[in-house]
Amino acid sequence: MINAFLKEVIVYVAGKPAENITEILSTKKHVNEFLIAKKIDLTINQTRNILYKISDNGLVSSIRKKDNKKGWYTYFWKIENLKSLEFLKQVLLKQIEQINNHIKSRESKQFYICERCNIELTEEKALLHNFTCDECGDVFKIKDNFKLLREFKKNLEKLKNKIYLIDQEIEKEKGKIEKQKVVEGKKLDKEKAKETIKKGLARKKLAEMNLKNKKATLKKPKKKKSFKQKKNLPSVVGLKNKKRR
Ligand SMILES: [Zn+2]
Repeated sequence: MINAFLKEVIVYVAGKPAENITEILSTKKHVNEFLIAKKIDLTINQTRNILYKISDNGLVSSIRKKDNKKGWYTYFWKIENLKSLEFLKQVLLKQIEQINNHIKSRESKQFYICERCNIELTEEKALLHNFTCDECGDVFKIKDNFKLLREFKKNLEKLKNKIYLIDQEIEKEKGKIEKQKVVEGKKLDKEKAKETIKKGLARKKLAEMNLKNKKATLKKPKKKKSFKQKKNLPSVVGLKNKKRR
């Protein structure tokens, strides 16, 4: 179901030639733009133009990677399901609004037609023309809006049902994103735990090393140190005395 919606929104923003790009972009990982071009059998520039159109509406995301040998960037693309579905929903909501306006106008205003010329006019315009067709001279008839209204209302129902289904897909996508967040959070926690363990080990090692050093210094005879101190003391005093003079 979601694939049909994605295709619809992609064609809506980028036209018929973009139709086949949808499935290629519907992956977990971003896809190399050259591979996309090859798969839809268009040039890289044609492909990019399509991708930019879709991207302008925020329906795809991209990452770039530098080719170290050639020094240029290659872009990788993938469709954003949630954003695309929400975009499509907005488009359909606008269509619903338009249809509702049509219905209102048909229910509140009278329209006139010339059956021979198959033209339709508002009451004001029909009055201006004295309810007579300029082209053929026939007298206008009142338009029966019943059929039209039935058609509008049918379309309205269809659109509402579609939005209901899109909402379900939107909820699914939101659920997926939440799940992904939890998974990533767990990963991060794991990494943090590893890091703290590492740090803990490092600290332990350092402590051990310190202890060793301490032991080593402790092992060295205390006398030597005190002997040094004793030896140094007079000379420092002597220096100070020298400076003062
Ligand atoms: Zn006419």
